[in-house]
Amino acid sequence: MRRALPQGIDSTRRTRRVGRGGTTANGARQTRARHNMVGRFGSNVVKVLVIEDEKKIASFVRKGLEAEGFVVEVSHHGDEGYMLATSRPYDVAVFDIMLPGRDGLSILRNLRDRKIPLPVILLTARGELNERLEGLNLGADDYLTKPFYIEELVARIHAVTRRAAGTPQGILSVGDLSMNLLTREVKRGEAAIELTPREFTLLEHLMRSPGRVLTRAQICERVWEYDFDPGTNLVEVYIQRLRKKVDAEAPVKLIETVRGVGYRLKPRP
Ligand code: CA
Repeated sequence: MRRALPQGIDSTRRTRRVGRGGTTANGARQTRARHNMVGRFGSNVVKVLVIEDEKKIASFVRKGLEAEGFVVEVSHHGDEGYMLATSRPYDVAVFDIMLPGRDGLSILRNLRDRKIPLPVILLTARGELNERLEGLNLGADDYLTKPFYIEELVARIHAVTRRAAGTPQGILSVGDLSMNLLTREVKRGEAAIELTPREFTLLEHLMRSPGRVLTRAQICERVWEYDFDPGTNLVEVYIQRLRKKVDAEAPVKLIETVRGVGYRLKPRP
């Protein structure tokens, strides 16, 4: 796994990916707006517990989240992290699966066994598909695959803390389009949609931030892990396929082309 972090990263370079080197193609600033959030415990700050033994990643995550206005506590050890999670009021916990001491899945299992409803976002490595599914089965609210952008983590923390109010876990929905991350079922209204794994990943990225434009380069990087523009119409081909499956039969078209920029899902069809 590629896990080298670039040197000299700081919170002003938030488009860096966490868990590997490299930048986004155009360094696009994504939403910097302060979200008007209220933490579960009455104050208007969101408290995040991060359990990650790779210190560079932990430190980068801390800086990125603090820059977004979160209060962050970091632990590098599974047992200590679990102790913190069970003894202090956090709004959300973000933890790695592979940890010294208690591993991430055990922390999650132990929390759920004790009926502690702390929202959890798991950090997984590529290839840890079984662990990811087990995590969702055990009651994780979401997961993020390394390497990831700090903006993705911020967006998921916002989604998870909003959702803590009661939407079913592991389900993304935009209009009448829904995606179950656990069962991988996708539906438009009541109609099931069959997607290939790449199509699923592409749609998942679009659904995670409805209204936000994903550039072609961002799509290449996130769906195909290309750090370069392959110079083909790969993205266009997949968008066309998704349109056929998602939009062709529906009166409202959700997938929009933003000419010269990229693609997005309509936030409110
Ligand atoms: Ca680890």
